[in-house]
Amino acid sequence: MTTALITHPACLNHVTPTGHPEQVARLEYVLRALEGFDLLREEAPLVLDDNLLKVHPQSHISAIRNAAPKDGWVSLDADTHMSPGSLEAAMRAAGGNVRAVDMVMNGDVQNAFVAMRPPGHHAERTTPLGFCFFGNVALAAKHALGNHGLKRVAIVDFDVHHGNGTQDLVEDDARIFFASTHQSPLYPGTGAAHETGVNNNVMNVPLPGGTGSIGFRRAMEQQVLPAVAAFDPELIIVSAGFDAHRADPLAGLDFTTEDFAWVTQKICELADTHCQGRLVSSLEGGYDLDALAESAAAHVKILMEQST
Ligand SMILES: [Zn+2]
Repeated sequence: MTTALITHPACLNHVTPTGHPEQVARLEYVLRALEGFDLLREEAPLVLDDNLLKVHPQSHISAIRNAAPKDGWVSLDADTHMSPGSLEAAMRAAGGNVRAVDMVMNGDVQNAFVAMRPPGHHAERTTPLGFCFFGNVALAAKHALGNHGLKRVAIVDFDVHHGNGTQDLVEDDARIFFASTHQSPLYPGTGAAHETGVNNNVMNVPLPGGTGSIGFRRAMEQQVLPAVAAFDPELIIVSAGFDAHRADPLAGLDFTTEDFAWVTQKICELADTHCQGRLVSSLEGGYDLDALAESAAAHVKILMEQST
């Protein structure tokens, strides 16, 4: 089997104001880095309301739809802006995650990387936040449970920021295990170790600034990976943010590209043991363009090695 790359050119039409870190070039760099890779390339569909409604009320969906401007920008918070192309991009980013779950669950591919923007892990039930509009990985997890008959889905989030949105959307659902490593203190300020969900189905591992490779690998090996193994998931979804890279301008963890390859390998090994290798990875943050491109390529290379 192979690895799918799911994306859509509409994600390049989500334009943020000049100087905004979550910029069009991020996706251009990632896609360029994946040129020539032997991937099954798939265009992301628009998300269906049925999928959005699994994690957001209709009022949130309508508010995002109605906010989309005809020209210029509309700011939903200090960091989160909509241009005329943002609505379609957000709907395809969510739809791409659903499509990835379908492809992996149907056995079309072993695993999938969803290279899309806007990201999703900060979007809460009724609040767009931190560059995010819809909870992409949370709604993908709900789709796997509701439409593919799974009983347990794990989400692993190694973005440098806490996935407050994902946590908000899944913490009351014991069928989903959500584990996050993130720098703390840092935006958005959530993700303390005592936030453990309705049934110990949330694991937060806050890391102090400057943690680096050794501390990250220790946190993964001693906490996150054993907890995911104990949960015995049938599918693993990864919130793959690469902003913990030492070159990243928004944060102060000190990871290297090698660390992202390492953690990808470890998560793939878990997927092999517990879920017949089924894994969906979704791009979240990463704001140094070169480090992002290099890290995403290293990540996808490991996914491809697992699927041969
Ligand atoms: Zn981030």
